[in-house]
Amino acid sequence: MADEARYEVAKKPAPPPLALVQDYVNTTKLLYRQERLASPDLLRRWLSARRLLERDHALTVDDLRDAVDLRESLRGLMLANTTGRPNAQAVEVFNRIVGDAGLRAHLGPDARPAIEPCTSGARGGFGMIASTVLLAMIDGSWQRLKACANADCQWSFYDRSPSGSGTWCEMAVCGSRAKMRAYRQRRSTVDGPTAGPAS
Ligand SMILES: [Zn+2]
Repeated sequence: MADEARYEVAKKPAPPPLALVQDYVNTTKLLYRQERLASPDLLRRWLSARRLLERDHALTVDDLRDAVDLRESLRGLMLANTTGRPNAQAVEVFNRIVGDAGLRAHLGPDARPAIEPCTSGARGGFGMIASTVLLAMIDGSWQRLKACANADCQWSFYDRSPSGSGTWCEMAVCGSRAKMRAYRQRRSTVDGPTAGPAS
């Protein structure tokens, strides 16, 4: 459980309910090649621990594939928040998951928008994650949930900078690496390929 807790520590955590989406995307650490959703049963445990699935509901490899598809489409949408460049493939996959969940929009008793899946099981759980995204897009908080611009990292972080222009999960790690890379590229362009520091 200590390892589990350590894994959950997110850099620049999002406020709830967006924290759920951030945690979901961060179930893989690309930088360290760690994967939490490595089997249908691990997916079942992740979803049921967050009340997105009945505890004894067995999942299949197809469910796991959809889970990873959804997760990576969300990462693509978060990266679009970082770069400003839309990602048509991420939109397409996200829409497929939304369609499978049969999301239904209505107003709740408090007259606020509510979006709920018409299905149960894994598809229902994915639908609840997708509805959290859609509601955050409606209230504007989605724009600050980003993926790190370091292609090797792509960790999800919540950008609390006043300007909303954050690009890296951690400036000291990914931002510095990117700056060093850009510096080396500039040096090799100006001085020729042999001039930059050895890497
Ligand atoms: Zn990063």
